[in-house]
Amino acid sequence: MADDCIFCKIVAGEIPGRTVYETDSVLAFLDANPLASGHTLVIPKAHAERLDDLSAGAAADVFAAVHELTPRVESAVDADAVTVGINDGSAAGQEVPHVHVHLVPRFEGDGGGPIHAVAGERPDLSDAELDAIAADIAE
Ligand code: 5GP
Ligand code: ZN
Repeated sequence: MADDCIFCKIVAGEIPGRTVYETDSVLAFLDANPLASGHTLVIPKAHAERLDDLSAGAAADVFAAVHELTPRVESAVDADAVTVGINDGSAAGQEVPHVHVHLVPRFEGDGGGPIHAVAGERPDLSDAELDAIAADIAE
């Protein structure tokens, strides 16, 4: 547990949360300021700030919970779809420094956008630049 981490405090029961799912390693609860009815957060119980800080086992457990919960959340609020996302780092919009996956129920005509709407101006990359980036990631 990290000092002053609000999600660690929810895991510890020190502040209340509307828990919807719990295992030894994962907790899921409703977002306190939901973007849509049923907006749920899935977190590892062990504190990790960024995805890169998460153990492989914890990452697998979190994704297993996401896989289990996404259809349950969608059905509970009679949604048409779900946007699943992680703000990994402050430049991406992360405000709570404890890894969390957002499950945001989506409804036809809800006025929201796709994941493609989150980034700024699109880069115009040459084939050579794309090749170099792919090689760096694959390395
Ligand atoms: P982030 O911007 O870090 O990806 O998202 C943090 C999310 O945590 C926000 O959607 C916010 O509403 C939610 N949140 C912040 N504090 C609390 C809290 O004390 N309880 C719950 N349930 N959600 C919180
Ligand atoms: Zn924490």
